[in-house]
Amino acid sequence: MDILDGKATSKAIREEIAEEVEARKAKGLKTPHLAAVLIGTDGASKTYVGSKVRACERCGFKSTLIERPATTSERELLEIVHDLNQNDDVDGFIVQLPLPDHINEQRVIEAVKREKDVDGFHPENVGRMALNLPTFIPATPFGIIQLLERYNVPTEGKHAVVIGRSHIVGSPMSILLGRNAYPGNCTVTLTHSRTQNLAELTRAADIIVVALGKPEFLKADMVKEGAVVVDVGITRVDAPETEKGYVIKGDVAFDEVAPKCSYITPVPGGVGPMTIASLLKNTLIAAGDKKA
Ligand code: NAP
Repeated sequence: MDILDGKATSKAIREEIAEEVEARKAKGLKTPHLAAVLIGTDGASKTYVGSKVRACERCGFKSTLIERPATTSERELLEIVHDLNQNDDVDGFIVQLPLPDHINEQRVIEAVKREKDVDGFHPENVGRMALNLPTFIPATPFGIIQLLERYNVPTEGKHAVVIGRSHIVGSPMSILLGRNAYPGNCTVTLTHSRTQNLAELTRAADIIVVALGKPEFLKADMVKEGAVVVDVGITRVDAPETEKGYVIKGDVAFDEVAPKCSYITPVPGGVGPMTIASLLKNTLIAAGDKKA
């Protein structure tokens, strides 16, 4: 069994990006600039945005954080998006989700200029991904693809089962694994809460991507010998005996599943760190060959 080490792989990718930023400067190209919009004070969102901004700085990117209160109206947010669309110095930007209930998330996603949509959530970019055209691939599935690629995990002709069909993880993951590309060329089964006989499907799978947000959902008796298991789940579970008062759990019962796998991602240190590295990669792509 081999660990797909997202922490080490993400570090390697971020170092490559930092070198590329230096090389860009030497060529007179622009420093990539990522902006992030955070509405409200949700703790997890603040943590995620904070780590994205810090990762930018460490790679030599420029970053801008725009913070507004939870009472911000949809119109005000759309104005911020419009300004970022117009700002030539900003190469790419993200609006951290989830947004407060009074804001229509889809309207905001569709307002982002396609060329700056480094989250890859705009419907046009989702369509381009499905057609295998150049685009921004959503950061978490992009991170998983890069992890499989860096470890040369065989995917062609394999049966992949994706658990969860969210727009940010499961659904794009199923599209990417089914594309005529490497990693890809899998026969994909996309499963969700209405799927019947899920364990029968996972037991037949060569590759399982688990993204449903239920701690330790995938058990050893749902996995065949030699499977590749990718755990996307991140759930805070109360643990009063620990210093933080909680522990982070993935969607896979790691201790019992790992011995059966050919490859597996740990939580933490698997998919999570790859997500940020992928966002930086997308920003680098967005900066293209713009002059300083
Ligand atoms: P989500 O939007 O809540 O979607 C969950 C999906 O799981 C839904 O499609 C749901 O089906 C399906 N599901 C729920 N119960 C199921 C069951 N018993 N059997 C089969 N499918 C079931 O979740 P998400 O945003 O994709 O996130 C999933 C997990 O990944 C969370 O723990 C999240 O924190 C984590 N995550 C991690 C990263 C990272 O960087 N590592 C990034 C994003 C998310 P229905 O569609 O039928 O409801």
